[in-house]
Amino acid sequence: MLYDVIVSGLGPAGATAAYELASKGLNVLAFDKENFPRYKPCGGCVSLKVEKILPFDFKSVAEDTTYGVVFTYRSKRPIPVISRKPVGYNVNRDRFDNLLKEKAKQAGAAVREGERVKGIEECDDYVHVKTSEGIYKTRILIGADGAGSIVSREILEFNPKMCAVAIEAEIPFEGERLAALKGRLLIDFGCIPHGYGWVFPKGKNLSVGIAGISDKVKGRVKEYFGDFVKREKSLSGLNMNDMHGWTIPYFHDTGQRITKARVLAVGDAAHLVDPFLGEGIYYAIRSAQLAAKIVSEEIKNNEFDLNRYDELVRAELYPELRAAAKLGRLVYSFPGLWYNILESEPSLMESYYDVIRGEKKYEGFYKDIISRIKTRPWKLAIRWIKGFFRSKGR
Ligand SMILES: Cc1cc2nc3c(=O)[nH]c(=O)nc-3n(C[C@H](O)[C@H](O)[C@H](O)COP(=O)(O)OP(=O)(O)OC[C@H]3O[C@@H](n4cnc5c(N)ncnc54)[C@H](O)[C@@H]3O)c2cc1C
Repeated sequence: MLYDVIVSGLGPAGATAAYELASKGLNVLAFDKENFPRYKPCGGCVSLKVEKILPFDFKSVAEDTTYGVVFTYRSKRPIPVISRKPVGYNVNRDRFDNLLKEKAKQAGAAVREGERVKGIEECDDYVHVKTSEGIYKTRILIGADGAGSIVSREILEFNPKMCAVAIEAEIPFEGERLAALKGRLLIDFGCIPHGYGWVFPKGKNLSVGIAGISDKVKGRVKEYFGDFVKREKSLSGLNMNDMHGWTIPYFHDTGQRITKARVLAVGDAAHLVDPFLGEGIYYAIRSAQLAAKIVSEEIKNNEFDLNRYDELVRAELYPELRAAAKLGRLVYSFPGLWYNILESEPSLMESYYDVIRGEKKYEGFYKDIISRIKTRPWKLAIRWIKGFFRSKGR
């Protein structure tokens, strides 16, 4: 049998691609190596702009509504920036991803769980997909198989140095201690090179983690995680043994193509993760929607020019990811300076919240920060020097 589209992986990217394409009447087969619901290491913060683009409600699986963040620097100098309006929702990925996969099934996609894609072979008019159970034939293959994607290995140049390494633990946490953390995230700068630590409250658990760019972290991610947990008062007495390592394939500005002939990549498989705070769920879902638009049009016209998907991603997603990359370079190269900017102008983050609500462009937020630096260089320099001596004196 010849499928219109095979999707490898059923995380947010793959499930969205399968849902959109099956809704348009295409003959879709989707695989995931895991049986759902399955665990996926993730802070689980779904930004408000995801709610704007998903065609169905997902709040039945939201564990908490987020109104802002308490920022800290090496677990000190807290700056709460809490908004009146929500900025996002916290989910457990087992339930969230299961919901998206069920929507794909209801739309008519054939779904095979527990079946791993092992390799692909491109022919002139179709692609052969080899899985743990058999060999299948498709007109177009969508690689949505995440950070370690088998499919994108065939079409992208993967540089392992251009990834963040992360450790995440899901900690059962109830009662009054959780109530105090609800509605807000905790983000700690300065605890790992080129990255940050977090505590995100969910229904009956906390996501506790740390992530930093792999060539700066130099294999010491566990050590940084241990130090972060020791310093963080809200975590005292909790058992962090159930922790998981993962990579985060953040966007790097090479402008590389994410298609080749009849194969394309979406989400993490296409390295579409925001390099500032690591948001990936929105980009996974949005890239899958853009891919589904092009794939359905090409199949209807019996043409297979997937470059149009590259062009759409370049026009819509790359400008945002580029601005996030510039911001990431500024923040993580000079975390002390960044923290002083935040301390002197916490309201700046309201402008970031508008970005993750989908009400403002990332480039606008970056420009706001640069203009603050330019208008008050001396004030910031003095705060920076004071902050430096304060941290040395500790
Ligand atoms: C520790 C951590 C914290 C994060 N926190 C956040 C956050 O708070 N908010 C946010 O927006 N983003 C966050 N991210 C990023 C986010 O998790 C990813 O960007 C997002 O999951 C990407 O979705 P995806 O569908 O592309 O890939 P995935 O969610 O990784 O899904 C890929 C799927 O493919 C399957 N698969 C893999 N290989 C194969 C194969 N060979 N055959 C078949 N199936 C296969 C996997 O089982 C999986 O189900 C975080 C990432 C990490 C690691």
